[in-house]
Amino acid sequence: MTSLHVPEDHPRKVSLDVREKIIDGHRKQVVAIAGLLAHGRGEAFDYLIGEETNSQAKAACRAAVAAMLTAKHPMISVNGNACALVPKELVALSELTGAPLEINLFYYRKEREAAILSVLTDAGAKEVYGTMERPSEIIPELSSNRRKVDSEGIAKADIVLVPLEDGDRTEALKAIGKKVITIDLNPISRTAVHSDITIVDNIVRALPLMVKCAHEMKGMQSDRLLSIASSFDNKKNLSKAIRLMMKHLETKAREELQ
Ligand code: ATP
Ligand code: MG
Repeated sequence: MTSLHVPEDHPRKVSLDVREKIIDGHRKQVVAIAGLLAHGRGEAFDYLIGEETNSQAKAACRAAVAAMLTAKHPMISVNGNACALVPKELVALSELTGAPLEINLFYYRKEREAAILSVLTDAGAKEVYGTMERPSEIIPELSSNRRKVDSEGIAKADIVLVPLEDGDRTEALKAIGKKVITIDLNPISRTAVHSDITIVDNIVRALPLMVKCAHEMKGMQSDRLLSIASSFDNKKNLSKAIRLMMKHLETKAREELQ
């Protein structure tokens, strides 16, 4: 089956192209059926923020990169949707911040893990944690397959970037003392609320921005980076993100009246 070709002048081209990546990912076994539904939830929230990166999301990206650059053992947790949408950027961010990639799946199947590993390897990843040959251990707070984490990876991490993550897992990572960074378009999801830094933006825009930030911030003094990371207040961040959505909706409502 071939991908749908979206014409250049289609008004929703960007969104449809992204959707095709998810569908392709599903065909390649990278994306689970539940991942298709999760993507739809993301699309709905993206409409609400106007499908662009706002200043609040930019500040969250900077804080996230600063936290990763100053961590002792940062990790990036990769699921099917993240892998289908931004494989190259995940590899680039991993290299720039020294945070290895670890595959961690809600709906685990060996074939899915192998498919994700192959996409990441094609995107340039040299080493990927959490694969079947690697030593693993258990996060006690979780009952599903995701409680298995790589002994050298997330198990040891002080900071984990978990984009597009489920609330249960975020809470479990917090309960075992990890600092959690997420990318989640829904500012009231459990993941968004329980994370230390939440980037309320589409991963297709946030990841390239994080890579850009990492390039710019890599040479900064560590005390400057620490101050950027520690002065970030996620409660205020989420509140501003919600207000920006409301403002966007109010503008749309006014436009309808004209
Ligand atoms: P929670 O379990 O955190 O309360 P949930 O059950 O709605 O939330 P999950 O499927 O567990 O959601 O996690 C997926 C999250 O990722 C959703 O909040 C969804 O809005 C978000 N999401 C989906 N696609 C994207 C995307 N492309 N960029 C950013 N966020 C996205
Ligand atoms: Mg959930």
